[in-house]
Amino acid sequence: MSVEASCHCGSVRMALAVAPETVTDCNCSICRRYGVLWAYYEPGSVDFLAPTGPTDTYEWGDRMLTFHRCRTCGCITHWADRDPSYDRMGVNARLLPLDVLSAAQVLHLDRV
Ligand SMILES: [Zn+2]
Repeated sequence: MSVEASCHCGSVRMALAVAPETVTDCNCSICRRYGVLWAYYEPGSVDFLAPTGPTDTYEWGDRMLTFHRCRTCGCITHWADRDPSYDRMGVNARLLPLDVLSAAQVLHLDRV
């Protein structure tokens, strides 16, 4: 059963093929500042319900990943690899309904 993730204002909405079983709390320099929990998906299993989604982006360091945030409400929504053939993307699980998020196991990723 698919689940829907939405930023606060609803401008960016994503339908995920399945609810995440785990979400990742990463302590790297960017993730800990964003305060996000990542759910990882193959890009093909995430449908953007507003395909031209009004996001601003941020890249840093080796610039392999692009972080997206809603242009209106500022919520971090997802990251995507700059290489479109990469089979993984990250969705901010904090945009999921609370019951879906609380059912997922939180994994702590130690990057420091
Ligand atoms: Zn928004």
